[in-house]
Order: sequence, then C-alpha cells, then structure tokens
Amino acid sequence: MYPLDRDPLLLTPGPLTTSLRTKQAMLHDWGSWDAAFNRITGELCEQIVGIVNAAQTHVCVPLQGSGTFSVEAALGTLVPRQGKVLVPNNGAYCARILKILSYLGREAVELAIPEDRPADPAAIEAALTADPSITHVAQVHCETGTGILNPLPEIAAAVARQGRGLIVDAMSSFGAIDIDAQRMPFDALIAASGKCLEGVPGMGFVIARREALEASAGNAHSLAMDLHDQWAYMQKTTQWRFTPPTHVVVALYEALAQHREEGGVAVRHARYAANCAALVSGMQALGLRPFLDAGVQAPVIVTFHAPAHPAYDFRTFYDGVRARGFILYPGKLTQVETFRIGCIGALTPADIEKVVDAAGATLRDMGIPAGMR
Ligand SMILES: *Cc1c(COP(=O)(O)O)cnc(C)c1O
Repeated sequence: MYPLDRDPLLLTPGPLTTSLRTKQAMLHDWGSWDAAFNRITGELCEQIVGIVNAAQTHVCVPLQGSGTFSVEAALGTLVPRQGKVLVPNNGAYCARILKILSYLGREAVELAIPEDRPADPAAIEAALTADPSITHVAQVHCETGTGILNPLPEIAAAVARQGRGLIVDAMSSFGAIDIDAQRMPFDALIAASGKCLEGVPGMGFVIARREALEASAGNAHSLAMDLHDQWAYMQKTTQWRFTPPTHVVVALYEALAQHREEGGVAVRHARYAANCAALVSGMQALGLRPFLDAGVQAPVIVTFHAPAHPAYDFRTFYDGVRARGFILYPGKLTQVETFRIGCIGALTPADIEKVVDAAGATLRDMGIPAGMR
C-alpha cells in the first residue's frame, strides 16, 4: 500500500488538490470591515472579470456558498418572475438547473439531449424561434456529470441572434477553457472558487452584464440569494453583505496569482489537456473505456465505463485506490455503470500516471484480469 505521508490527491472536480501556497494563504484571520480585506475582494472581482474579457460590459458579484448557490442566485435574480427559460439538458447539472427553476417558480422548457451528445446550437435556435415567449437560455458549458463540452461560442451567437438572455453555468470550465464576453455574449456566467481556478470551495461568483443586473432589482425570491442587493451593497460599502468566507477569499486571491503566473487560461488548459491525455491513454492500456468520444470530451473530468466483471464494485475499487493515495469520484449516469476521474487541480501528468498505476494495481487485487475489463 501507498505510505500516506501526505493528503491523498483529489481526482475530483472540486474540492480539488490545491497548491501549498494556496493553503498557506489561509493561515491568517481577516476582519470583514477591514479595508485591507475589502481591497482584496475588489481586486479579486476585477481579475475575474478580466479572465473573460468582460471589464467593459460586465461586473463580478461574489456570493457565499458552493457553486449551486450562485447558480440559484443568478437564475432567481436575472430571470423575472414572468420569465421563461430554455434548458438544453445533457446531464446532471443541466437537470439541477431545471430543479432550481421549479423551486423558484420560473417557467422552464427542457430541450432533452442524450448524455453523450453536445447541445446543438441549431436546435436551440429553432426552439427559440418556435417559442417567442422564452426569455432566457440556461446553458451548462462543461457538463461535469459526464465531462462533455457544450459549444458555447455557437450557442451564444444563436441566443444573441434571437435576442434572448444567456445564463451560463461555467463552473467547471472557467479559468481553463477560453471564454470571451465580447465574442460570446452572455447576461450572466457563473463559476466558483474551488474548480479550475484551484482555490478552496466556499464561494461562487456571477459575472453579470451590468445593464441586465441593473434591470433585475426586485426580481429575487430570497434575500440571501439576491445578487442585485449583494452588488448594490458592495458598490456602496466595498464590503460583503453578511459574513464573508474570508479564508476562501484570500485563498482564491492567491490561487488567481498562480493562475496568472502559470500563463493564464491557455496554459492551464494545456496542463489539464496533458493530464486528460495521460489519463485516457493510461486507463485504455488497463482495458478501461471512456464513456465519451474524444471529440466532445472536455479536459476536466473523464467518465469511464466500469469493468463488466462480476468482481467489480465501485466501493472496493474506490477503497483500493484511496489506500494508494488517490480519491476518485463515482459516476453520475443513471443508465450505465461508470466512475469518474478528474483532470483538474494542482496536478501534472506525472501524478496522473501514478493514479493509473493505483487503478491497475487495485483491479489486479480485485481479481479482474486485464482482458476482462
Ligand atoms: C461543481 C459544479 C456546480 C456546483 O456544484 P456545487 O456542489 O454546488 O459546488 C454546478 N455546475 C457545474 C457544471 C459544476 O461542475
């Protein structure tokens, strides 16, 4: 077994493995009224808006909580109560948007898509033409349930042509896949601290088109989830409304500095793509097949078919890999038995090779020979 003199590496799409520098940033206490802390929040928001080239048109509103809190806040604030939202659905996070809209009492139209197929911009445009009462499209960029990448540039163009608002869940793509607000118009784009920016979990943020946010006063169903109110308060006071997750904020600030030093989105994308390639080829050599075609796979998380062998069960596999120092993720598909391995976090292809070795050794221990996976 692996001598565990370190934390296990997280091969999961958030929380994920962070650098020592990011962890060390959390060794201080900060006051929420303190100007030094509030300057960090302000700079953090500027940097986040800069990553998607949105400074001229958009503002960043940070929000306490996990990523879903920000998705719910964006939908509840930007979609008016009489609004109607088209949701192209090819996975678990798209389904979560539909569930949020139902809680919020906002009308939704589902555009069902098989989980191994990307959303089709032409089908989205046709749905908008057919129903002029649809006010918004809510699109997941990388659907983390499978790891599929939906074609955001083409979808944004289609939605803009039809004059509707676009709300993007870019939770697992922001910072690692190119997004440009000037080339891919959106009303709101949502992400969080603990994904490809490699911070720790605990806050999300919404990059909102300033005019859309200004027009959204009074829409929200909930005080804590009211992004307009959060933004207005921050504009007025530079402070967070309600207690900020101070340690998460300073860790994200430090993680953003490392994102810049690494070379920004393009270089982070290249590292994750190298991780993904090492993972897929290594697992294929063990006889394990990815669920998605390579052409639609985002370099974020890979879904693998579970071995069909009767000795396989996920819990035993997980425990064996865990004992060797790595934490995997269960599958999120309802029809097929799968598991998932993330490519994101402070990891390199050398780490991924060790993960593959751990998976191979565990399957051997489970009595599942190479030819029977
Ligand atoms: C992680 C993630 C979320 C948010 O999930 P939380 O568990 O609330 O952090 C939302 N959408 C996508 C696509 C994600 O990957």
